[in-house]
Amino acid sequence: MTYPYIIAGTGAAGLSLAFYLAQTSLNKQKILLIDKKLKNQNDRTWCFWQKEISPFEEIIFHKWQKIGFFSRFLEKTFDILPYSYKMIRGIDFYKFTQDFIRKNSHFEFLQAEVYQIEETPEEVILHTSKGEIRAKYVFNGLWQVPQNFERKKGYFYWFQHFKGWFLQTQKIYFQADTMTYMDFRVPQKPHEVRFGYVLPFAENQALVEFTLFSKHLLTETEYLQALKNYTENILGISNYTIQESEFGVIPMFDEPFVQKKPHRIIPIGTLAGAAKASTGFAFDRIQRQTHFLAQNLAQNGKIVLPKEKIKYRWYDSALLNVIERNRLSSEQVFSILFQKHPIKRIFRFLDEESNWWEDIQIMNAMPWKPFLQAIYENWKNRVF
Ligand SMILES: Cc1cc2nc3c(=O)[nH]c(=O)nc-3n(C[C@H](O)[C@H](O)[C@H](O)COP(=O)(O)OP(=O)(O)OC[C@H]3O[C@@H](n4cnc5c(N)ncnc54)[C@H](O)[C@@H]3O)c2cc1C
Repeated sequence: MTYPYIIAGTGAAGLSLAFYLAQTSLNKQKILLIDKKLKNQNDRTWCFWQKEISPFEEIIFHKWQKIGFFSRFLEKTFDILPYSYKMIRGIDFYKFTQDFIRKNSHFEFLQAEVYQIEETPEEVILHTSKGEIRAKYVFNGLWQVPQNFERKKGYFYWFQHFKGWFLQTQKIYFQADTMTYMDFRVPQKPHEVRFGYVLPFAENQALVEFTLFSKHLLTETEYLQALKNYTENILGISNYTIQESEFGVIPMFDEPFVQKKPHRIIPIGTLAGAAKASTGFAFDRIQRQTHFLAQNLAQNGKIVLPKEKIKYRWYDSALLNVIERNRLSSEQVFSILFQKHPIKRIFRFLDEESNWWEDIQIMNAMPWKPFLQAIYENWKNRVF
């Protein structure tokens, strides 16, 4: 048989798309979901800020109304209301969405590895560990960290990478309503971004992470040494037990991912550029992307991804250029951002919802020269 739709990859994007499709008129179509994993492990945690109630509100593990920023230039805690900074555990998301989708008998799940996706004029053929499977359209969310890939001139191919520990401490170290968004007190290096990140769940429990934005990954030992240093020497925590650990690599590529006119194979999630090039945040963007896709498909039969706002890609590229070329240190840039602006403006800017006046205010607070040089150099490298 040929399925009308297959969702390849049941990570954040695949499950979100199925979750939204199951709530539309398309819930009578046969839809197959394929993944090589069962998705029954807590392989990650997702955080995002939000004003609205999330469709996943009942599985929010913890939320914070205050966020902290630390650097040599600024130490400040911000009240972020009406926003909350929310965290969902991967395992809770997988279970919640799978349970919801499985209530509809038109959705089928298959555990199989996809080797190749082949498009013909009439259909798409998936070559998998369980044989050939055919569909009219495939939503492709088969993201894996690429080993070797083509790099276009003038674009940045950075990664956000991090190692974290879920700590249980004997003494009280944390405030459960305040998370640390960026802590630049960790040793810094030029041409990249390094910071600590803390998500406390109780006075003696937190996820503590060491995070980088850079071109190259570190060795396991380097992550562990840096995380230990942050935990013990900067946060001053002793007598702790590590209950779980987390490691992640997220692309911060500023090259446009989205195909101009996807035909029968439609990228979703990270493959469709959901991870923001300047921050690596992707979860909330995946929700917007897959909700938009499901709504359009159900309402007018059209397969469309949300339009990219080009100006933000230029802003993200300029920031990456400024840091890679060491025109300003990342600590300076982020300190200026948090010092000079209300948190709402920063969130709107990072959510790509700011208006021109807000953009001008953000840019006006930064030293102009390094950013103008960066924009000019990016343009020149792409054109010539
Ligand atoms: C540890 C970690 C923490 C993160 N935390 C945050 C956060 O706090 N906030 C935020 O906004 N973003 C975060 N991200 C970034 C982003 O939100 C996640 O990576 C998100 O899961 C991306 O969704 P996706 O559907 O594109 O990819 P994934 O969720 O990675 O899904 C891809 C799926 O494809 C399957 N697959 C891959 N290849 C094959 C194949 N050949 N055959 C069959 N199946 C295959 C995989 O098994 C997987 O299930 C985090 C990422 C990681 C890794």
